[in-house]
Amino acid sequence: MDINFSAEDLAFRDEVRDFFTTEFDASIAAELSGAQGTDYKGAIVAWQKKLHAKGWIAPGWPKEYGGTDWSSTQKFIYETERGLAGIPDVVPFGLKMVAPVIYTFGNEEQKARFLPRILESEDWWCQGYSEPGAGSDLAALNTTADYAGDNYIVNGRKIWTTFAQYADWIFCLVRTSKGMRKQQGISFLLIDMNTPGITVKPIVTIDGKHSLNEVLFEDVKVPTDNLIGEQDKGWTYAKALLAHERTGMAEVADSTRMLNSLKQRASVEVNGGNAMIDDPIFQMRLSDIEMELMALEYTELRVFASMAAGGMPGPESSLLKIKGTEISQSIHELQLQLASFYGGALPENLNADELGHDFAFEARGKYMYGRAATIYGGSNEVQRNVIAKAVLGL
Ligand SMILES: Cc1cc2nc3c(=O)[nH]c(=O)nc-3n(C[C@H](O)[C@H](O)[C@H](O)COP(=O)(O)OP(=O)(O)OC[C@H]3O[C@@H](n4cnc5c(N)ncnc54)[C@H](O)[C@@H]3O)c2cc1C
Repeated sequence: MDINFSAEDLAFRDEVRDFFTTEFDASIAAELSGAQGTDYKGAIVAWQKKLHAKGWIAPGWPKEYGGTDWSSTQKFIYETERGLAGIPDVVPFGLKMVAPVIYTFGNEEQKARFLPRILESEDWWCQGYSEPGAGSDLAALNTTADYAGDNYIVNGRKIWTTFAQYADWIFCLVRTSKGMRKQQGISFLLIDMNTPGITVKPIVTIDGKHSLNEVLFEDVKVPTDNLIGEQDKGWTYAKALLAHERTGMAEVADSTRMLNSLKQRASVEVNGGNAMIDDPIFQMRLSDIEMELMALEYTELRVFASMAAGGMPGPESSLLKIKGTEISQSIHELQLQLASFYGGALPENLNADELGHDFAFEARGKYMYGRAATIYGGSNEVQRNVIAKAVLGL
């Protein structure tokens, strides 16, 4: 793969940079960082509407449904610039998860009904896969959908449902038949969150924030029109989604930005010339992470080149997920170390945002929530099993 950008690619990169600089304004950034904390959903929707107005909301979609028709290189440039600028990715559940399932496996009526509203961020979606007792072993799920004329009657309990508190719709894996292999008899159902019988219960995470929920279904009536594809074939559709979900989890540009900022902050001198960067053990850990990140970047470029040539993400998506999430956790650990070093120094020398209590507070939150990265999207242990089976033949 040629990774030298053409003049057109460089012009595109400038356009992306310019758009991010002018359009991602301070109020959206403050809201999303939690500094204002009053209207997280409103800030995300406002930003996504700007992306939609620019025509850039769905780079991964086919052009006919509203995609950008960008080359793979342009998609790569866009993602890199987004990460380096510290701009959050779009909320994936609608745009990156259920939409590809709808345009690949849904019928024409479903495409016309759901896709435009996802593009316009009119509907907020959440993902109802995991259940108590069905996480890594997802096919063990027990939420049932019993066929009753024009409706399914859904009963059961989903857990760890991110942003269900904001959601208008949930896409669910439900059991429609029993008595065969557990992967069979699962169906893919779209459920309106305003339907009677649905209860959302918050789960507050270790960082003190609320993004996770339990979603309970008690005799929830779902029209059979909301079934994607064929009844009992939902596992096939769900699997297609999971490989794509993991490919986006390497987050090389985000980690590069965090590492650059870490190095800059670690160079600040306090107490008569001491800086964290001078500590040889800190230096060693920093270099280890930089080398790992560089290796990950080249691995991602290789995967990207094979996808550009028409390939599908295979077990490489597991490798990217494992290394990407481990690297970001290592960076969070160094941020915490940095916070404790400067916290014990002379805080009055330091700007609160830069390295004082604001930085320490943020580093603590990132470290705590960051633990989840090696669990969600399929835990890293399970990804190692995927690699062992697909690559090593174990
Ligand atoms: C922050 C966060 C957000 C999430 N958001 C969503 C969401 O929006 N929607 C949704 O449906 N789900 C969501 N999840 C759930 C997530 O997909 C599951 O947590 C994950 O699949 C693991 O399942 P589990 O929690 O049931 O753990 P378990 O499957 O019980 O695993 C427990 C431990 O055992 C290990 N383990 C399990 N099986 C094996 C094996 N075969 N070999 C080796 N080790 C194994 C796991 O790696 C893990 O360490 C989210 C999770 C988190 C943490």
